Amino acid sequence: MRISFSALDQFERCPLAYKLNYIDRIKAPERPELYFGSLIHKVVQEALRRDPITVPLDGLNQFMEENWREEVFPDKETSEKYKRWGKTMIRNFHAAHKPGLTNIVSTEKRFQIPLGKKHQLTGFIDRIDKLPYGPYEVIDYKTSTKMSSQDDLNRNKQLSIYHYATKKLWPDAKDVRLSLYFLKFGNKLSTKRDDADIEIMIKDVEKTADKIEKISRTKKESDFPPKPNYLCDWCDYGDRCPMMKAKFPPKADQLGAGSKQARELIEEYIKSHQKIRDLEPRIHEHFDNEEIERFFTKYGIVTRSPKTKKLTIRKVD
Ligand code: SF4
Repeated sequence: MRISFSALDQFERCPLAYKLNYIDRIKAPERPELYFGSLIHKVVQEALRRDPITVPLDGLNQFMEENWREEVFPDKETSEKYKRWGKTMIRNFHAAHKPGLTNIVSTEKRFQIPLGKKHQLTGFIDRIDKLPYGPYEVIDYKTSTKMSSQDDLNRNKQLSIYHYATKKLWPDAKDVRLSLYFLKFGNKLSTKRDDADIEIMIKDVEKTADKIEKISRTKKESDFPPKPNYLCDWCDYGDRCPMMKAKFPPKADQLGAGSKQARELIEEYIKSHQKIRDLEPRIHEHFDNEEIERFFTKYGIVTRSPKTKKLTIRKVD
């Protein structure tokens, strides 16, 4: 089968999300962060395409403005926030990029390479350079708001795939440096892979591709279970996922009487907690000012633990 890193990654993270995306082909709504990432990549590619001619910074900002789609963002404020990030990223990229001094071999390079006997691995690489002292360098531009750690980089499977693809596409590439360039921070982190790392990656990817191929034939629901993970809050298929039922409850007019009561009860419970959180600092302040640890009222007694500083209530009968 033909498979990309994104598909493999989504399957490993959650088989149900993979099925909804790649097998059922349910179109996901356009998300601001994905649209933004792809637009900034376009701006970077525009500058790389014109290398060795220097594209002025204003020209790149203008390119972003001209391609900006306001309707993707929920409101003006969010759109402006992303625009500010975009301008920072473009400025960082522009300041670090020295046209003509780089040895760009290819940009936006699509690949389809064999993986084992049965599969084809597909993808594309933002940029590949051949450094003057010999090695190739793969550069993947990132628009994330956080930088990865060096440890993440060393374990990053996508970079292992890029290493493998570069060696297949350029057989003279003996040495490959793998870099992530974080545009928001103007910072680049690099890593390398050895033959043993690549062998492990191939075996691992082949095993997953075998499994996907097998279960995709029958498309049995039970073969694609939901697997909750840290990205669930941003999942495009949350409204179809049994794990997220509580987050996507039926609308108020679709609820039965029992459910309505339960919802009111839980909302009341949440509001009460909020109220307690608002009141507690004021009670602590009073205890501190008066140098007391206990307060008596006609409804009950509030005591502050000297150790944990937790407040407890004892009701007066
Ligand atoms: S919400 Fe989480 S568990 Fe559910 S489909 Fe999405 S990724 Fe999977």
